[in-house]
Formats: sequence, structure tokens, C-alpha cells
Amino acid sequence: MTVRRPDGRTESLLVRAHPGICEGWGNCHRWAPHSYPLDAEGKIDIHMLQVPPEWAESAWMGAQACPAGAISIVGIVATGGADVEGAPADEPVPT
Ligand code: SF4
Repeated sequence: MTVRRPDGRTESLLVRAHPGICEGWGNCHRWAPHSYPLDAEGKIDIHMLQVPPEWAESAWMGAQACPAGAISIVGIVATGGADVEGAPADEPVPT
């Protein structure tokens, strides 16, 4: 599902993962396999990622499902909405 705002813009997520504290539960990967690849030991295999709008909801759920707190949503980037006068193409919004 794409997260779309009333002004027509879509939102992607900036995600930071911490492989050093990952305990290998795999909950993130079950919610969002495209966003959260695991290595051969079942631990998260990314450090920083911009999740596209179509995967934002599942990536958010995967981050919330991590029992180790190894995934942080660090920002939201609104994109598109060309009808919004003067709006920049990418607008990071701190969470
Ligand atoms: S849910 Fe958390 S602990 Fe489990 S694999 Fe993903 S990052 Fe690691």
C-alpha cells in the first residue's frame, strides 16, 4: 500500500538498522522481506535504507515488530504532488 497524503504526495521512510543489536528473530523480514534482507545467520543485513512509498507501511510494521529495537524510523520523505506550488521534490520530515 502506498502512503499518499491529501495533497497527492507520497511518503517514503528513512530507516536505520543496527545489525550489532539484532537478535535474529526475523520479525522484520516476515513483515517486509523487500525492505529487511537477512544474512546467512538470520540477522538484518542493512544499515540505512530509503523505503519506497509502496513498501512504507510494511516497513513501518516490520520496524515496530522488532523485539530487539534494532530498527529505527529516522525520517519521512514526501515526494511528488507537482500541484503543490513551491514545494521541493523531496522534503525530509524528522520523526
Ligand atoms: S526483527 Fe529485529 S532482531 Fe529480528 S531479525 Fe529483524 S532486526 Fe533482527
